[in-house]
Amino acid sequence: MSAHSTEAGGTLRYQTFIKGQWCDAASGRCFDSVDPSSGRVWARIPRCDGADVALATQAAHHAAFEGPWSRMRPTERGRWLRRMGDALAADVERLAQFECRDNGKRLSEIRAQFTDLPEYFYYFAGLADKFEGRVIPIDRADTFNYTVWEPYGVVAAITAWNSPLALLTWKIAPALAAGNSVVIKPSEHASASTLELMQTFQSVGLPDGVLNVVTGFGDEVGDPLVADPQVARITFTGSGAVGKRIATRAAGLLKRVTLELGGKSAQIVFDDADMEQAVRGIVAGIFVSNGQSCVAGSRLLVQDRLHDALLDQLLASIDGLKAGDPRDAATQIGPIANQPQFERVCQDVATARAEGARCVAGGVPLKGTDGGWYFAPTVLVDVDPSMQIARQEIFGPVLAVMRFRDENHAVQLANDHALGLADGVWTRDISRVMRMTRRLQAGTVYVNTYRGVAPQSPCGGFKDSGWGRENGIEAMREFLQLKSVWIGLGDMPNPFPRL
Ligand code: NAD
Repeated sequence: MSAHSTEAGGTLRYQTFIKGQWCDAASGRCFDSVDPSSGRVWARIPRCDGADVALATQAAHHAAFEGPWSRMRPTERGRWLRRMGDALAADVERLAQFECRDNGKRLSEIRAQFTDLPEYFYYFAGLADKFEGRVIPIDRADTFNYTVWEPYGVVAAITAWNSPLALLTWKIAPALAAGNSVVIKPSEHASASTLELMQTFQSVGLPDGVLNVVTGFGDEVGDPLVADPQVARITFTGSGAVGKRIATRAAGLLKRVTLELGGKSAQIVFDDADMEQAVRGIVAGIFVSNGQSCVAGSRLLVQDRLHDALLDQLLASIDGLKAGDPRDAATQIGPIANQPQFERVCQDVATARAEGARCVAGGVPLKGTDGGWYFAPTVLVDVDPSMQIARQEIFGPVLAVMRFRDENHAVQLANDHALGLADGVWTRDISRVMRMTRRLQAGTVYVNTYRGVAPQSPCGGFKDSGWGRENGIEAMREFLQLKSVWIGLGDMPNPFPRL
């Protein structure tokens, strides 16, 4: 079975995936998905609502508590995850083509990312049977007490559009390894690759209801999913505004939430840094993926003495980058993933200029690229920390450059922000490395490297960048709860003995 059929005219018509079946939205409605490299509609996606959410959560609940998935031993779940990893590995090229069409990220980049994704399934497959409880020596000779880690049941996994399958993998691999079932809500801007991944996993033959997808909009699908009584645990990647809304609603329902939110990461370059390496890291951090990455290093802090030389080298390295079709191997700059995001980038750069920042590269949409939403790699200097460009996440190819005097000044600038997802430090001084890694308030600190991610290494935010962790052993704990079991070995004392 296929996730999509082809309509007259070539537009793909998707179905959603509930209880192991491909189906239309209960309402029969669809919405358009637009190819950001051309601005043209390329697919139609089911516009689900509360009725579809109810079907999906029922199916997931049955899978988690009654179906074969609920009876599986952890080692056996691990085997299923390995099969999922193998199926994904065999389907990288097909999936990459769909995601490229859907969100406009360069095909070469998506391929590289997808080639790594099976490793996450293998890693969490290995952890599936490693969460051991304890036998607890309580002070009662006739009672045996132990703990056991158990899944929550139904997990709602809500994802953003910038890297749909990577973000989804980081959620479903540990959630399934822990024994949960999942209802996925992909972004309305990029739903196709998630549905195509369900097709990939069909070859594995997972029990029905273990994975379900409800496509559509935040208010029509996200809200009822968060509120659904069958959903016990929520994991969300997206903006701070939506994250806060979900956290507020979940708190009222006493549901636990993992939040992977935005960042305004500082790349801090000291005057003893290897400048060439630093420039590569800065460019990778903000211009690869067009800055549409949660860890985009969007604030560049440079020590006074190095400022002008580094800026010259940075501008030379982005001069003449080739914009074009993200499928073309020669393309270096792809489109912004969707029109609202493109308009936001244009507006934020205009505001930065109005506030007094000086644009030394880019700052304009790129023309001549088949009607898509292209924006030039942009560098703004003379940025003051109070300007909006220094305070707000842009999620676009826009770098705000600031100067610092010394280490204390660098730390003060970097930490002077509500967000704390990641920071980068470029220096050759090992003592400074140790001081900086301690003082920076961010969930990840990179030193003389940037933008790495690995199944074994936990990532997540400090401050307003989120709650909880993805990847690493810690990610399993997000999807497990602890049960304490008491077994009486003697007579139960009579609470009301007759005197
Ligand atoms: P968004 O918050 O607009 O949307 C994210 C998801 O939430 C989408 O699926 C959307 O439909 C859904 N949603 C919207 N309203 C909802 C509601 N009321 N209830 C439930 N779900 C709802 O974010 P976006 O624009 O898709 O993504 C960009 C943001 O994601 C940026 O802020 C970026 O930093 C962040 N992000 C963070 C990470 C990370 O790991 N920290 C990774 C990637 C992206």
